[in-house]
Amino acid sequence: MENRIYMDHAATTAVCPEAEQAMVPYFAERFGNPSGVYQFAMENRQAVSEARKILADSIGADPEEIYFTSGGTESDNWALKGIAEYAGTGSHIITTRIEHHAILHTCEYLEKRGFQVTYLGVDEFGRIRLKDLEAAIRPETVLISVMTANNEIGTIQPIQKIGKIAKEKGIYFHTDAVQAYPALPIRVKDMNLDLLSVSSHKINGPKGIGFLYIRSGVKIEQFMHGGGQENHMRAGTENVPAIIGFAKAAETAMERMEERAERERKLRDLMIELVLKQIPYARLNGSRRERLPGNVNFSFQFVEGESILIMLDMKNICVSTGSACTASSSEPSHVLKAIGLPDELAYSSIRLTLGAENTEEEVRYVVEQLKEIVQELRKTSYRYESISKEAGK
Ligand SMILES: *Cc1c(COP(=O)(O)O)cnc(C)c1O
Repeated sequence: MENRIYMDHAATTAVCPEAEQAMVPYFAERFGNPSGVYQFAMENRQAVSEARKILADSIGADPEEIYFTSGGTESDNWALKGIAEYAGTGSHIITTRIEHHAILHTCEYLEKRGFQVTYLGVDEFGRIRLKDLEAAIRPETVLISVMTANNEIGTIQPIQKIGKIAKEKGIYFHTDAVQAYPALPIRVKDMNLDLLSVSSHKINGPKGIGFLYIRSGVKIEQFMHGGGQENHMRAGTENVPAIIGFAKAAETAMERMEERAERERKLRDLMIELVLKQIPYARLNGSRRERLPGNVNFSFQFVEGESILIMLDMKNICVSTGSACTASSSEPSHVLKAIGLPDELAYSSIRLTLGAENTEEEVRYVVEQLKEIVQELRKTSYRYESISKEAGK
């Protein structure tokens, strides 16, 4: 569709031309199974290992520490279940109330299986408090899992400090870096990370591929049982085209990381400034400073986020309310509730996430549309009418 304005990059992104081109030969021409012992297959084994090296370098890891998975969800599942199962029932995990459902629902599953989980609360900006983390640590604690940056409100956590605490206590530290990578520089050794999840389709790579970084020496159960792929830890024939595309997307993104983050940050701040100045009763959710470059999340009091989204869609503007995974549920966002928003404000929120192709012109246009839509919708709100009359007196 032409003239579409896409501001939902936290949900997914388009495959970049570099990645698309790199993948093409691996569908039909170079279809060999990397496990084969003839030249034609071994070439693909070589290609996969080069891809692994590129991805490892991008986070300061060794290639042997990168395990390909089907994406962020699988990486999160593996990290939690793999560590918990290796440690045995009764062991304890610490996470937060604002994690992605790939973490939260896995934790709920583990609780049913006899594991213990502590869900840390967050402050009004979505940051955990380190003293809460320290207080939650028990002798049975085997794993701390805290996301690098949140997918709904963009809040960045103090990963380095959490890593230091985990290391001092001898507890494994996992982070879901799906939103943060590669917008924020990640060095696994400096950050004392033992496990880290990344997904390809959030960084202009293909869908259905990601990796889990597992530091050498970490005691974890294997995830898929079958053949000997991924060093006997995750069986199944490698998704070669996706792996090639993923590495190319990562490489391309790393080259432009600084410049892109700077650009997105400017657009983000412009949007925040315009909205807060021009639309009354608008609230920015999340932190002003500790925020992903491309993330904006507002509540527009007296209107439903769902209605704004539909009206923006009629103008061919793609945004979302909270996270895509809860789009079909009518529960307010668990993240917005965790930062203390009352249901009314949680229901009135929308998330706009910027990407490489968005322009200042688009930002200004979307804000104009938002202003009109919110104004229009508020006409049907009795509470807004009476409050604005009071204010006008
Ligand atoms: C998108 C996302 C996931 C899930 O990744 P998939 O590759 O879609 O399975 C996990 N965590 C966060 C923070 C995400 O934004």
